[in-house]
Amino acid sequence: MAIIIDGGKIAQDIRNEVRLAVQQIKEKNGIAPGLAVILVGDDPASRVYVGKKAQDCAEVGFLSRVEKLPSDTGENKLLHLIKELNADKAIHGILVQLPVPKQINTEKIIEAIDPCKDVDGFHPYNVGRLVAGSPDRPSCTPYGIMELLDRSGVAIAGKEAVIVGRSNIVGKPMALMLLARHATITVCHTKTKDLAAVTRRADILVAAAGKEAMIRGDMVKDGVVVIDVGTNRSREGKLVGDVAFAEVAPRASYITPVPGGVGPMTRAMLMKNTLKAAQSIIAG
Ligand code: NDP
Repeated sequence: MAIIIDGGKIAQDIRNEVRLAVQQIKEKNGIAPGLAVILVGDDPASRVYVGKKAQDCAEVGFLSRVEKLPSDTGENKLLHLIKELNADKAIHGILVQLPVPKQINTEKIIEAIDPCKDVDGFHPYNVGRLVAGSPDRPSCTPYGIMELLDRSGVAIAGKEAVIVGRSNIVGKPMALMLLARHATITVCHTKTKDLAAVTRRADILVAAAGKEAMIRGDMVKDGVVVIDVGTNRSREGKLVGDVAFAEVAPRASYITPVPGGVGPMTRAMLMKNTLKAAQSIIAG
């Protein structure tokens, strides 16, 4: 039976580390790192995420500013707010909660954020740094997965890593981060032929498709390390991953649960990226 990687505990360790670093910044520089989160509209899931981010900020000692804008906010108004936050010395990290309403061009908004304050790691400058192998602000979900692997003692160099999903926020940056650590990478998507034949080759399998229980027991080899990014609602309303846990766990060496695996890490890495942004801005 696999070792179950406790994302909640590792995320707590990271928040504790961030909290200590924040205390040092406060003692030395007399300021707290500041994170601004912008929420446009009233999507209930987005409201919950923003609330949790504010809670995390309070726990680690950040200054937290939440800007709630109505759903009919125009693009120019949002761009103006970002410009103001880019110039605000008390703010070191800026995050626009996605998705934004249709009248707003997401790319334009992301590109308006100062890359140094882009704590989501979505700005083309930060994506470029990741491609070049020296990320400043790695995007939070794959960054969190790298921490889960490292802190669980999983070796990466020379391993076959298979990623199911090629989105800009999970699959692609995940592939680049594992490649930078010398894994051999395969990225799968909906046009992949014989997915099971590919996933069976994996020493490390990252499932990020958003399809409930699509990775079955016969799609993995013995000893595989399984990271389940999926967050899906089952018919009964339960939060479930992309991996059929009961079938896959007996074959795996390590596995992340849903909930309690990758999810808490994404939030913790946002705190870490904000700390890094503050440290680099303070250092000038
Ligand atoms: P997207 O919908 O943007 O991307 C899904 C990817 O999976 C696409 O590349 C798609 O292929 C691929 N895919 C979908 N179905 C299949 C299939 N049957 N076989 C092979 N590939 C498939 O999703 P995200 O990357 O944004 O998120 C993925 C999942 O991770 C979601 O459940 C999301 O909720 C979750 N998530 C969880 C986070 C966390 O913190 N725990 C953070 C971010 C996301 P194609 O490109 O061909 O369409």
